Amino acid sequence: MIETTRHIWRIFWTDVFVILLCMAACVSFVVLSYLDARIDRQSAEQRIADNTAAIVRIKHDKKQADERRYVEATRPIDDTNCAPVGKYADPARIDVVVNKRRCLSPLDYAPQELRYYQGIPVQARIYDDLVAMMQAMSAAGVPVRLTSAFRDRQAQQYACEGWIASTGSQTEADKNCARPGYSEHQTGLAVDFAAGGCVLDCLRATPQYTWLTVHAAEYGFIERYPLGYESFTGYHAEAWHYRYIGREAAIDMKSKSIQTLEQYRRIPGPGITPGVPGYATL
Ligand SMILES: [Zn+2]
Repeated sequence: MIETTRHIWRIFWTDVFVILLCMAACVSFVVLSYLDARIDRQSAEQRIADNTAAIVRIKHDKKQADERRYVEATRPIDDTNCAPVGKYADPARIDVVVNKRRCLSPLDYAPQELRYYQGIPVQARIYDDLVAMMQAMSAAGVPVRLTSAFRDRQAQQYACEGWIASTGSQTEADKNCARPGYSEHQTGLAVDFAAGGCVLDCLRATPQYTWLTVHAAEYGFIERYPLGYESFTGYHAEAWHYRYIGREAAIDMKSKSIQTLEQYRRIPGPGITPGVPGYATL
């Protein structure tokens, strides 16, 4: 009897021991799993923090590099290196040709006489034709808004900074924005139009653009940067940008189906090779 009782107690304590052992194993497993997950989470958080810091560092470095390039590109330069000589060189004349190889002389040139159309300055001698054209467009049911015309060198720099910010680099901005000292807008002979809420390239799909294609020359204006002629003008197509060259020249150019001012004046185009802006002094 005693032997049987001892045997039962032995089995009982053995079971208790096994149960306790299993419980200890389970608790250890749970604790280890928790610690493991915590370590994983901490290392994942660390990786995310490292990646975020790397992205911030790359963006910061890129911004600094862009700023260095821009400061270099817009530094005051000796304009005798880029100023054209001979015909079509005088920024006060309506036959002037300004592009990436032909800067203004002086680089901070501004027209002597400005007039203001709804608060926007234009060179005085284009005023009457500009107003007549815009009134004709309103009468035809295709009104446009003047968004910009004369910009001084400083304003041009701000405009280009906007393009650098929106395109992400100086190289891309160079395809649409003339650097300060190289912009037609500094002559007061260039105008930018908008149709309703359409400000930039969407203008191409509007009846306003169609009207301008047919009639702008009658008022002395040409589309300065037409689509497909980037190698002549040095710029991406700009459906919104028109240049005043006078009625006679504009009508003559249109009658000869000549698309760019460079071709009309027989001046080699500056080209638009990416990364090589074609600026005379760079
Ligand atoms: Zn423009």
